[in-house]
Amino acid sequence: MEQKRICKTCTKEFLIIRQEAEFLKAHDLPLPTECPKCRKEKREKWVSVPYYKEYKCFNCGEPVLVWLKQTDNRPVYCHSCTTKLRKSGQIEIPKPGYKKGISFLKQLNDLVNSLYIVGAPYRENTRYAENAIRSYECPFTKNTVDSFDLSKCINTVNSQHIITANNCVDSTFSTRIEYSVQTISCSNCSNSSYLTYCNSCTDCHYCDNCNDSSHCFGCSGLRNKKYYIFNKQYDKDTYYEEVNDLLNLPHNELLEKVNSFKQTLPIPATIQDGDISNCKYTSNVANCTNCYYAFDSYNIQNCGYLWHVGTTSDSWDLSNMVRKTTNSYECSDLAHSDHCYYSSKLFDVTNVYFSHDLYKCTNCFGCVKLHDAKYHILNKGYTKDEYDEIVSLIRDEINLHYDSN
Ligand SMILES: [Zn+2]
Ligand SMILES: [Zn+2]
Repeated sequence: MEQKRICKTCTKEFLIIRQEAEFLKAHDLPLPTECPKCRKEKREKWVSVPYYKEYKCFNCGEPVLVWLKQTDNRPVYCHSCTTKLRKSGQIEIPKPGYKKGISFLKQLNDLVNSLYIVGAPYRENTRYAENAIRSYECPFTKNTVDSFDLSKCINTVNSQHIITANNCVDSTFSTRIEYSVQTISCSNCSNSSYLTYCNSCTDCHYCDNCNDSSHCFGCSGLRNKKYYIFNKQYDKDTYYEEVNDLLNLPHNELLEKVNSFKQTLPIPATIQDGDISNCKYTSNVANCTNCYYAFDSYNIQNCGYLWHVGTTSDSWDLSNMVRKTTNSYECSDLAHSDHCYYSSKLFDVTNVYFSHDLYKCTNCFGCVKLHDAKYHILNKGYTKDEYDEIVSLIRDEINLHYDSN
């Protein structure tokens, strides 16, 4: 059942393994036409791209920020105008429902483009975010620029989703880091730069998957090491000389050098805790059983292609803050959800396809920004029978069925 395909986006060959095909067959979903990397990039665009744009609230003119890339003609409102206008019925979430004879994906796209956007407020010179420009949800920060979802940060520039940072620049999903630049999913790291998935490292640069190390440069998967460059040990003086030479390279040349070294390494099967059994290509995982390509994840069973996922089973292609999810595929940012497909930002949701921003919903197909909805298609409510009939029409139209060829 294992088969090779060519990715329609990047044209590289990729593999569909037996367990993956079995999962898709059980859920009556088509085999992927894009490689895992392109699929990951596509679904992550739904939730968390390092992008914002300034707008003025269409109602009151107050400046607001919009985090996700949007088409420019959608109306943008500040939080208080949104509440006010919704209460008075002046704006509402559109509920077009399904129209026969028009492509479902076009109808979904039209629905998304007809929604108003709620912008995030600027928080400048407030008690919580001193001198903080363009910040959002950021208690106790100071001198913060272009930042989102921070907490207890000082002098943080252009950062996202950080907890307890200090003098940090461009860091994503990192916790308890100090004086560091460009870190992704690291914790307890200081005086470091360009780290990915590192823990408790100091004075390390361009490293990934390293733990408890210091003075390492361009390394991968090290434990308790000091004075290493490209995974090779040096004495202290030579280390500084060599690093100095490397740092004198133009930055893109340096990055190329680091990348070409890392490409010689196997995918790191490192940082594992707890019970790990019957897994292939995992890193930074704990209590992981029967998984294939899982990163930065814990308590997971029978899954594949996971990034930042916790307490989840029988699911494939999930990324960005997924918690307590089962039987789901190609989703980002969801929690307490079951049987969700091609969707993002879901909480307490079951049996959902092509939907975003749902809360406590079941049986929704192509819906956006709903809560407590049941049997909805393109935001309109139907009876169970109508719902089943239309969903089966749409699934046929877009070929949403398993096909072993
Ligand atoms: Zn690809
Ligand atoms: Zn307003």
